[in-house]
Amino acid sequence: VLHLNDVTRTYPSGRSTLTALDRVTFGCRRGSWTAIMGPSGSGKSTLLNCAAGLDTPDTGRVFLEGSDIASLGDDKLTKMRRTDIGFVFQQFNLVSALTAIQNVTLPLRLARQGNADSLAKEALSYLGLDEHIHHKPRELSGGQQQRVAIARAIATAPSILFADEPTGALDSTSAASVLTLLRTLVEQRGQTILMVTHDPQAAAHADHVAFLRDGRLVTTLNGANASQIAATLAELETRR
Ligand code: ATP
Ligand code: MG
Repeated sequence: VLHLNDVTRTYPSGRSTLTALDRVTFGCRRGSWTAIMGPSGSGKSTLLNCAAGLDTPDTGRVFLEGSDIASLGDDKLTKMRRTDIGFVFQQFNLVSALTAIQNVTLPLRLARQGNADSLAKEALSYLGLDEHIHHKPRELSGGQQQRVAIARAIATAPSILFADEPTGALDSTSAASVLTLLRTLVEQRGQTILMVTHDPQAAAHADHVAFLRDGRLVTTLNGANASQIAATLAELETRR
């Protein structure tokens, strides 16, 4: 579904340059859930943003469904962002003036999907929000808002769902329910997920955990539990 080939992203930093991603080669298989972990500033968000076409690498290529996203014209890239990519943020980023159903309908209209209302209802129902479709974000708990944001992200049936710290703003109970729903998406719909997280408990829900340090992909764990993940992360944080 997704493949990054030798991706480097630098930022100007005073008189020198900071290498946020250093020749990263990485991929996600269809129907798999991958978590990215690493110390603060190790390049996790940069990796996610480059993969989702929200940021552009200096060198290297990003392939989504076999297309090199840099070679797509603006129109095609916009279309791909609207239909093939779902993105979930730590702070939900819902439109506060709109109800849950209006928030979810928005990307469907942008993607020009005819039956936007019924698709939006279906997505909200799937996330257990039948009773909240007419509520505005401020009338919902954090966990419910994040479920609306996930409904919005998956309503267009994207080939990949990106999530940057999706449970970072949630209490542990809401976080657990969001992670269980993401697992259901993987199992029932074969949804591919790429998620950044600081939380070993959250990463333990994923199939694979990729670790970054100083912009480099250093190791990957498969099917690891939270304590194995925490131990690997602690090791990366001490060897700085
Ligand atoms: P955190 O865990 O704190 O969210 P991260 O692993 O997501 O960190 P990134 O946000 O990817 O890290 O940042 C990687 C490096 O690139 C950091 O040193 C950061 O300061 C730098 N950086 C990121 N975005 C920019 C930008 N727009 N301009 C300049 N430097 C940036
Ligand atoms: Mg980040």
